[in-house]
Amino acid sequence: MTTESLVRTEELRIYFPVRKFFGTVGEVKAVDGVNLSIGRKETVALVGESGCGKTTLGRALLGLVKPKSGKIFFDGTDLTILSERELKLMRRRMGVVFQDPYASLNPSFTVYRIVEEPLVVNKIGSKEERREMVLKALEEVKLNPAEFFASKYPHMLSGGQRQRVAIARAIITKPEFVVTDEPVSMLDASIRVEILLLFREIQKKHGVSFLYITHDLATAKYFSDRIAIMYAGRIVETGPTKAVLSEPLHPYTQALIDAIPDPDPSNRFVMRKIPPGQPPSLVNPPKGCRFHPRCPFFMQGKCDVLEPPMYRVGVERFSACFLHEEKVTIK
Ligand code: SF4
Repeated sequence: MTTESLVRTEELRIYFPVRKFFGTVGEVKAVDGVNLSIGRKETVALVGESGCGKTTLGRALLGLVKPKSGKIFFDGTDLTILSERELKLMRRRMGVVFQDPYASLNPSFTVYRIVEEPLVVNKIGSKEERREMVLKALEEVKLNPAEFFASKYPHMLSGGQRQRVAIARAIITKPEFVVTDEPVSMLDASIRVEILLLFREIQKKHGVSFLYITHDLATAKYFSDRIAIMYAGRIVETGPTKAVLSEPLHPYTQALIDAIPDPDPSNRFVMRKIPPGQPPSLVNPPKGCRFHPRCPFFMQGKCDVLEPPMYRVGVERFSACFLHEEKVTIK
């Protein structure tokens, strides 16, 4: 891991219009003022409950969603001002692995065609060169013998094998940055570890940076260098994974971890229970701190009025909570 950022957002806002038959009636503030950075060869886990905006943020980092405001830098270039053509070229340096290995692969294509597709779309290599690259990618994701798997269709494979095909497709253009959106949540526990180990291996070999989107703190603990906790469109805490999980700062992070009385140590960090109450509507989020209606430390007249800024609380630790106002080392 290095501290130099490969991907960085500045005050990123992504709003979607809410339309009714007579016109626009509001906006879903899916991402609302997010500053996030991912270093070269670093894995950042983006953790939060369903609907908190983490998938939208991941898609935006790939240049797939147009922001309302703010900036997205990839290797120093602001993606928000690029033309579609320029974005397409930039996306050759990025990859994505989705949650559902069943839905993300075209059922009428062979594995060979699925993995070759990004090369064809980006006009990379001759037919023979592409064949060599496809077989090599299949070997790299441990689908051996590669020739055997290349001729299969998705329905002939297990969930884990399908996800390996999706990973081969994501890495075939040798991306520097890969977004993985809940890539193991639909797989059996034993296969999850294998897939996460594969990501680690790929990272070690090719120096890829990963954004690992998940609701599962157990796999985030295992796979990520840093963690960013997202709540209702905003990042509320970031820091080195071990430090955040062993000593969470933000009340929301604390609640996520404390609310899991599971006797099985392997499930200790799985978010099967969430803090009391519901996440707020992203159309009309609460004024002030968005967590205040659920927060046990809520300070009336402050938390419901002012939005807490992100405070630096020690080395590489940040928390958007007024409880840390006093502890601030650098604002
Ligand atoms: Fe709780 Fe206030 Fe901190 Fe928000 S700012 S998490 S409401 S103490």
